[in-house]
Amino acid sequence: MGLTVTDARLDGEAVGVRCAGGLIEAIGPGVGAQPGDETIDAGGAPLVAPLVNGHTHAAMTLFRGSGGDLPLMPWLEERIWPVEAKLDDEDVYWGTRLACAEMIRSGTTHFWDMYWRPGATARAVADAGIRATIGAPLFDADGDSEKLRRWAHESLEVLEPAAAENPRLRAALAPHAIYTVSEGSLRWIAELGAERGLPIQIHLSETAPEVEGCIAEHGERPAPYLDRLGMLNERALLAHGVWLDPEELALVAARGATVVSNPVANMKLAVGGVFPYPAARAAGVAVGLGTDGAGSNDSLDLLADLKHFALAQKHAAADPTALEAAEAWAVATGARAPLLGAIPLAAGEPADFLLLRAAAPEIGIGDLTEDLVYAATGSVVDTTVVAGEVLMRGGEIPGLDEVVARAAERAHRLGL
Ligand SMILES: [Zn+2]
Repeated sequence: MGLTVTDARLDGEAVGVRCAGGLIEAIGPGVGAQPGDETIDAGGAPLVAPLVNGHTHAAMTLFRGSGGDLPLMPWLEERIWPVEAKLDDEDVYWGTRLACAEMIRSGTTHFWDMYWRPGATARAVADAGIRATIGAPLFDADGDSEKLRRWAHESLEVLEPAAAENPRLRAALAPHAIYTVSEGSLRWIAELGAERGLPIQIHLSETAPEVEGCIAEHGERPAPYLDRLGMLNERALLAHGVWLDPEELALVAARGATVVSNPVANMKLAVGGVFPYPAARAAGVAVGLGTDGAGSNDSLDLLADLKHFALAQKHAAADPTALEAAEAWAVATGARAPLLGAIPLAAGEPADFLLLRAAAPEIGIGDLTEDLVYAATGSVVDTTVVAGEVLMRGGEIPGLDEVVARAAERAHRLGL
């Protein structure tokens, strides 16, 4: 028994999609249901590949609407870190369930996460049915690198069995940033990642002071610093990269690392620069798109952020061709970064896809990709399918009311 979608539109053509065993078994004109299949009549709705949110802190939905006008460090030090010290598993579970619901509603089927209590995140991801790559944040700004190592091992002891049980989940390491993790610990994390073949997510080159601090302390810019510590490779995901210079972009490209741009979080925290996408593309850097946490965005609607990404690039370059719609869309689906795991619409691939609302006013006229990038938000998504499982149909996610209510309760408990 599988899932079959009929009468969807792909590149203007009426197609069917049959899914079995979590994969697309057949896609194209004339593909129909087998006896016993669950069926969806798409009614002419556009069929598109899903989005990959390359950087977030899912449970920070609990912090939405709190300290929204503060600069980065006062926001972290006054609003975020004191409350994070009080978080328990149920807070993270319901905050993540809320984030998953929001991402499923707006067309994301895989997100890269860095947050506390990763076991609770893994449980929420499994219950929501979405895909995630999860790493616990690693810090040793207090000088206690032994504690960092214990915490890294403890988090992997939770995440690796969870990933073995749930094929939609992947374990990662997540050193927070070069200014919150010591040189020795970064080197140790790079070695652990290499030993276990784990992706490593890190915030890098988000603000100009971070770059200045790196030069003052280590005598080099952030990318060569990470490279010297063995962390710059094809398993590395660098969130932000706003201040990477041309030499750093060439180095990141040569090592095969991925940069995930988070344009809305960068603008909200007013970092004062724009990720240099045209130079990154010219250098051959793998690039993805992320929302960052809801605490600094405040939305997890990657489709809405895609417009900001494209417009920020055009504006910064004073050139409307600096990032064209088809290229922006490719970045948002993960197709410009092998590490992110883009899922193409093709037989034999995982059965992850979206059906858009056939009657959505934003996408009915003109080129669909241009409409998606410049006119749409996540509200145009009607149906979200992951591994052949329907997570949302007709804009409805089963159990959403409870998720919203429980997450609000948890935020209230924390005094947010
Ligand atoms: Zn972040």
